[in-house]
Amino acid sequence: MMEVFNAVMATPEPLRELFIDFDAWFASVEQALEPSLRGKPVGVVPVMTDRTCCIATSYEAKRLGIKTGMAVWDAKKICPDVRLVLSDTARYVHYHQQMVKAVESCIPVDKVVSIDEMACTLTGRWRQPDVAVKIARQIKQATSDVLPVTCSIGIAPNRFLAKMASKLDKPDAIRVLAATDLPAAFEYLELEDLTGIGRGMWRRLKHAGIHSITQLYAARSDVLRSIWGGIEGQRVYAELRGCSTYRPPSKRRSVGHSHVLPPEMRRPDKALAILHKMLQKAAFRMREMNYHASGMSLSLWLATDSQTGKRGSWGEYAQFAPLNDTRDLSWVLKELWERRPKGKKIQSLGVQLYDLIPDTDVSGELFPRRDHHPDLAEGNLSLVADKINKRFGSQMAFFGGAKEGLEGAPMRIAFTQIPNPALESDRPEQSRRIHK
Ligand SMILES: [Mg+2]
Repeated sequence: MMEVFNAVMATPEPLRELFIDFDAWFASVEQALEPSLRGKPVGVVPVMTDRTCCIATSYEAKRLGIKTGMAVWDAKKICPDVRLVLSDTARYVHYHQQMVKAVESCIPVDKVVSIDEMACTLTGRWRQPDVAVKIARQIKQATSDVLPVTCSIGIAPNRFLAKMASKLDKPDAIRVLAATDLPAAFEYLELEDLTGIGRGMWRRLKHAGIHSITQLYAARSDVLRSIWGGIEGQRVYAELRGCSTYRPPSKRRSVGHSHVLPPEMRRPDKALAILHKMLQKAAFRMREMNYHASGMSLSLWLATDSQTGKRGSWGEYAQFAPLNDTRDLSWVLKELWERRPKGKKIQSLGVQLYDLIPDTDVSGELFPRRDHHPDLAEGNLSLVADKINKRFGSQMAFFGGAKEGLEGAPMRIAFTQIPNPALESDRPEQSRRIHK
């Protein structure tokens, strides 16, 4: 076994990946925008009541022991002065988009992993440690020019290790992790701290007698294969050692619909209602295939311009952290729709969901103890709607016409999803956002 291990270690793995993870993103955005919150323990909450829990906490709060997921009443027991802020999804999404642009001014973003995480591929001389660190410093500068918040950056041979590296020295860190640093670099971590080890896998590992990261590293590839129940176990084995593994792309690349509008529907409100319906259908199909999407395109074909005699088409694409909920996706659609050329008649239109990712690959590890918090454990509304629709034939349940559905619903955000209605509830007006 050690021979295998040594053979892998003998080939130095180049630093192929750089991973950016913003520190306490929601709380940091609030502190950046509201100077009175800076330096204070802050808890971001989905609704202003003691019965909910903190969906994000500032580093000042974390240092006191107020962790993400902690009930507000418990947080107040630790620190009666904890500043509670109502989460404001629109803000977090807006600054997230600004941060993606800022990072792109330094290095191409290969994947927006979540609202506060981005993955970049290092090529050529960028793989030299000093060059990679220089890029990381540039990223920190460019992002802090947008908003005074910090991020932690991991640089490693593969994305899994780069993500782990970004967590090791948080906050405001740059960490280079070479394959030769392993497993020593993980010596203070628990199994469940590893990306991809959820509660189910944690139990399976324990059952197989693997209780620590050291034991995980000591296990043979075929042992991991049987624990994971397939090739994924061998990928984990290789990734732990810095190898770059290949995951076959999902067979399904996109799902969507397009439609020619009858003349009476060529008005923006009608067109949007149709688009919304097509999106609901596409999202339903995607969920049936057990996928999330992380891209959406909106295409419009416009009526002939009476002045130029030209027919036009217009399209826009949005990228986001993996979503499968209709209401989340509706929000993206609304964003795209608002960017359309105004004042033109629309003849036909289409909406497509792209970058489909199997549900099983969508990371949820930022929210490990969901089941302890009934407030946050509400089911996904889309799945409920799907069940009703499957049972009763067609679109019995759907998310209201474009207008009511979009304008009536305030947006909430949850961890790796942008945003998630599980955290939605009525919100007080803006002036009451900050409470002690
Ligand atoms: Mg983060």
